[in-house]
Amino acid sequence: MGATPARTACRQWGYPPFVAPPCSTRSQDGEAGETWFHTSMALDRSTIWPYEDGEPGRFYYSRYASPTIVEAEEALGALEGGHALLYPSGSGATSALVLALLQPGDTIALAEGCYFGTGVTFQALAKWGIRHVEFDQTQAPPEGVQLVWLEAPSNPYLTMPDLEAAAAHPAPVVVDSTVATPVHLRPLEHGADFALHSATKYLAGHDDALLGAVACRDETAAGELRRFRTVTGIVAAPDPAFLLLRGLKTLELRVARQTATAGEIAERLRDHPAVETVRWPGLGGLISFDVADNAAALRVETSTRLIVNATSLGGVTSVMESRARWEGERVPPGLLRLSVGLEDPEALWRDLDRALAS
Ligand code: PLP
Repeated sequence: MGATPARTACRQWGYPPFVAPPCSTRSQDGEAGETWFHTSMALDRSTIWPYEDGEPGRFYYSRYASPTIVEAEEALGALEGGHALLYPSGSGATSALVLALLQPGDTIALAEGCYFGTGVTFQALAKWGIRHVEFDQTQAPPEGVQLVWLEAPSNPYLTMPDLEAAAAHPAPVVVDSTVATPVHLRPLEHGADFALHSATKYLAGHDDALLGAVACRDETAAGELRRFRTVTGIVAAPDPAFLLLRGLKTLELRVARQTATAGEIAERLRDHPAVETVRWPGLGGLISFDVADNAAALRVETSTRLIVNATSLGGVTSVMESRARWEGERVPPGLLRLSVGLEDPEALWRDLDRALAS
């Protein structure tokens, strides 16, 4: 393939060549038409690409691979220090990873106090003979399990795992680092076998893309995950992958600002008479804190004006909710989870302080 002006433009913009896959058009009588290249970050929604000289080329059917997904995976893989794979959601990544790695009779050691949906997903897998037991992730994982599942930090308890103790365990280790993001933690550098993300959260960062990701160093493991993903069809769509690419451009700036604001707010919450316990591990934009009871929590969450009363986390808009509505007795009744966005820190504090007085 010769150096076309568009390909030169690709190099100029710094995009790797796979961003601009050749796309041929065919006229109605079947003759091959012109070939062109995308010159910017491309959103390619195609599900098929023409064979090259009668053979499948790099891209041919999107369940196997597609350019926007590959570009986003390369970008995230570079951040995590491994090979990244995208999935339709964080929970989709969780299911795909467990189904690819485990078999009936296997047990997962799951960090207690982590994202409650992960336990719910594992519960749903119980009928295929996959069990899970909970353990304190600040200690070593229990013996006799086939997979260790950590969360850094756990959502909403915000404990940090003992990564060294987990890496010494014979079973593969997964770290859900949705909340830490690669800005604060690259689990693969600490001996984890897999880093997992709900990319819906900080990575995409704008509450408009549902996406999950797994990263690993081992090329064979990545290849097996890719094959399993293709045959099961647990495949991400290009649109959220495009939004992930857009989000990654500002990830470091967003997370740095969210962390600084969260630190400031956590400190003020600790001094507030209406607040009993404040959890903030010193990194990331997620805080949880307890007010007296569930009624007080409901009052606070519905009294803010700037902070949106909604679920999820990791977006540019601050959101807060009482977690008891989802997690029941698993959390203190007055626990509020606050995901700090990019608003003015003083305006956020004024809003929260006013709501706490309600
Ligand atoms: N992991 C963590 C830490 C989460 O907070 C969530 C969702 O809140 C998930 C995984 C699941 O991700 P998704 O909602 O993208 O399926």
